[in-house]
Amino acid sequence: MRSMPTDAHVGAKFVVDRIVGMIQGVMRDAAREGELDDDAFIGIGLGSPGPLDRETGTVLETPNLGWRNFPLRDLIGKSVGLPAELDNDANAATLGECWQGAARGVSEVLGVTLGTGIGGGLVINGEVYHGASDVAGEIGHMTIDSTGRRCACGNYGCLEAYASGPAIAARAVEGLEAEAASLLPDMVDGDLDRITAAHVSEAIIAGDEYAADVMRETARFLGTGVANLVNILNPEMIVVSGGVTRAGDHLFGPLKAEVRKRAFKVAADACRIVPSELGDTAGVIGAAATFHLARLGPI
Ligand SMILES: [Zn+2]
Repeated sequence: MRSMPTDAHVGAKFVVDRIVGMIQGVMRDAAREGELDDDAFIGIGLGSPGPLDRETGTVLETPNLGWRNFPLRDLIGKSVGLPAELDNDANAATLGECWQGAARGVSEVLGVTLGTGIGGGLVINGEVYHGASDVAGEIGHMTIDSTGRRCACGNYGCLEAYASGPAIAARAVEGLEAEAASLLPDMVDGDLDRITAAHVSEAIIAGDEYAADVMRETARFLGTGVANLVNILNPEMIVVSGGVTRAGDHLFGPLKAEVRKRAFKVAADACRIVPSELGDTAGVIGAAATFHLARLGPI
């Protein structure tokens, strides 16, 4: 896999040019090495933050990238000269896990991606469920406390406002400001603004009890949201991905316990909660699957 930073602040055109350049680079290198000629490339699968409109290939709004009504699919497809298909990045990641990752052979799957935000993807009976207008699966903005913390979306008490990477860091800092004992301040030379969720995971591995408490609390918030989804959807498997999963049992232990406590037993018993197998590559593998499903049929 090849990757480059998005550098969204320099504008959408720059990001598109960069993606097109990378696709053309892959095609050129494959041709030079004699592996594949141009005819071997049949199309492009794209995964993007949403919400988006799959029919027109337009990204409607991305708070983190600042795009609005942006015709991503056609800009890239026309520049490269190949047909392209677009889906939400979390849907693509879930599809990737179903095709080649932790959920191979499982037909009812919920993907949960913990990062800057919280994304979700839903595969029902082997197919991505998109809903009436392609917004299905936005689990990060499920309300878990009606008068709770303010979320970037403008609502109060969204799951994302408690268990995303930045939310974990913010809750950790609040406790430190209330003078909790921890290794965390020394890890950032006393500059608490620099604390990230990755520092919390590192501190746990170093034996920090306070950081373990922050992660247990994160798992309880996450478990509250996941228990709702277990009752509503009765999934066979939930695949959790993102850097926070490095905390291992410190996250998964209390997460599973919270789900067992809150969800109907028969639904919780049927649901395996597992870490991602594909990690960062789930989205690109799933985007290829998205193209295949749209243009060529079942994989
Ligand atoms: Zn929200």
